[in-house]
Amino acid sequence: MMASSFEPEATSSVPTLPDSHSGIPPYLLDKATRAKTAVFEGRTKPLNPRTREVPVVPQGISRDDFLKALEELKAELGEGNVEVNDKPLKDGWYMEHPNTHDMMTILDEEECVAGAVVYPGSTEEVVKIVKWANKWLIPVFPISMGRNLGYGGAAPRVRGSVTIDLGRRMNKILDISPQDYTCLVEPGVSFYGLYEELGRRGLRDHMWVDTPDLGGGSIIGNTVDRGVGYTPYGDHWACHSGLEVVLPTGEVIRTGMGALTQGGENTWGVFPYGFGPFSDGIFSQSNFGIVTKMGMTLMPNPGGHESFMYTFPNEEDLGPLMEIIRPLRISTILENVAQLRHVTQTVAASGLPKSKFYSGTGTIPSETIHRAAAQTPAGDHTWAYYGMCYGPSHIRAYKLAIIDAEFRKIPGCRKIDPFTLPEDEYFWSRDRIASGTPDIHELRWVNWAPNGAHIAFSPVSPIRGPDATKLFQLGKRIHEQYGIDFMPAFCVGLREMHLIVEIVFDRDDSEEKKRALGCLRDMVDEAAKEGYGEYRTHLVLMDQVAGTYAWNDGALGKFNEKLKDALDPNGILAPGRCGIWGKRYRGRGWEMGRGSEGRSEGKGVGERVV
Ligand code: ADP
Repeated sequence: MMASSFEPEATSSVPTLPDSHSGIPPYLLDKATRAKTAVFEGRTKPLNPRTREVPVVPQGISRDDFLKALEELKAELGEGNVEVNDKPLKDGWYMEHPNTHDMMTILDEEECVAGAVVYPGSTEEVVKIVKWANKWLIPVFPISMGRNLGYGGAAPRVRGSVTIDLGRRMNKILDISPQDYTCLVEPGVSFYGLYEELGRRGLRDHMWVDTPDLGGGSIIGNTVDRGVGYTPYGDHWACHSGLEVVLPTGEVIRTGMGALTQGGENTWGVFPYGFGPFSDGIFSQSNFGIVTKMGMTLMPNPGGHESFMYTFPNEEDLGPLMEIIRPLRISTILENVAQLRHVTQTVAASGLPKSKFYSGTGTIPSETIHRAAAQTPAGDHTWAYYGMCYGPSHIRAYKLAIIDAEFRKIPGCRKIDPFTLPEDEYFWSRDRIASGTPDIHELRWVNWAPNGAHIAFSPVSPIRGPDATKLFQLGKRIHEQYGIDFMPAFCVGLREMHLIVEIVFDRDDSEEKKRALGCLRDMVDEAAKEGYGEYRTHLVLMDQVAGTYAWNDGALGKFNEKLKDALDPNGILAPGRCGIWGKRYRGRGWEMGRGSEGRSEGKGVGERVV
């Protein structure tokens, strides 16, 4: 039976901005509707009834007290702003995503599930929630939009946590400064939302939003998890300026210029450091505070832009190509976080399921992929480089000539004429994203598997041939061992590159999920042995990845624990996120690693600390 009979939203219309803060901009509605149809066509997973007691009660509190505590919170925030999570776990899809769990879970779907979801409407209400959490010793987990797909989505790390969905009611753009090219946003402002607002104010030709592959994430959520975009402003954390943070015990601080007595409104977005220690760092990839406002820089329109695409025929071209890319990138002749994608991902980006290309078992044979690639407008290749040049035409011409001469040193290199590529070709999506127009194309390759889900392995290395080749071969070998199609893409930052390997799996197939997780765990460990660490990771891998940053007897982890215990003595805020556990959780087996795949929980929690 088709899943549409289980998922009522399969036939409903896609929510749009500005009616819904998490909606699609009207210019992408048709595309989103088509994407939704494709997702539900590939879905066979039924809407399962809950198999364990609901709502999930976090360890350390009785069911009666948990329910009593939620009633108390309702009295503070309003009845409609506290939802008990006792319904079936509806996965939805990218644009209608759940805030109760990870719609792409790699574990059993009852594992990392919220006990309730609450919707604060102001910083003051966030303060009330953390004070409440300390009173009742209930773990809380903040999300801004909850679309951190591939890294855990909206799921809390600890079962039964109360998710603080900041985005639903705190979604204002507080300021956009056309003079300073800055903005000040609340957690529920998505890249789509900011882009729409620039349009509404007639500022789109004036300044650009740096958008990730998909624009539905929030600017704050993406930035605190250190996501990237594809204009020259790519590194979001580097581009933010000043935070407002609710600490786990309820104090509110502002960092940077926002800390000035008057609130620093005029300089908040223009100078990130303020005076004194630069404390912002401890609020990214951590569980030390809840960000309620953030300053962000916007990019001036460079006065012209031009995408280009080159293909290279052989896997072995990777090493020499990296040697060419590095000096060009570091000297910013290559100006944006460009992508070098493997052909398997390019074929999958057609949006067609693997079964359309291959009916056998195991990984798709290389000849099949190349045959399919030969049918695409860009023709057969192994690597495709998507980049963009910025500025007026004479400036672009100067840089493009250098790039062309360098890339052509690789035998068989081809420059693809964009005007031979049809409108819905992936190239045009990269073109929009690299020039500040958010898109929704990227999720197409998730349809590779039925009930398609994805999870990422994202190690960092220098932009060097031997490193790229070593990581590529490591990933390829381990994927082959586990019988998983290998879809690597290298994202080239300024001096480093992230290899992003997305494993696509059927989230209704527990055996396939086990293989995907086994493959990831092996890649993390083997990469660490070679000296590579991940820049970001999924909830279920956080303990393992944090464990690879263990220099000097785990000194950094111990320092993080010290900070955690000082700032959050009861350990109520996002316990376990990024492998950081408060005192009440430590030594009780909460960490996940090899052998613990069936469960996400430890045995109990300790007594109140303060
Ligand atoms: P997105 O907005 O891209 O959908 P999420 O809301 O899922 O991203 O956020 C990504 C991760 O970052 C979350 O899992 C959460 O742990 C953390 N996070 C998100 N928003 C905040 C915030 N406002 N304060 C603190 N941590 C946050």
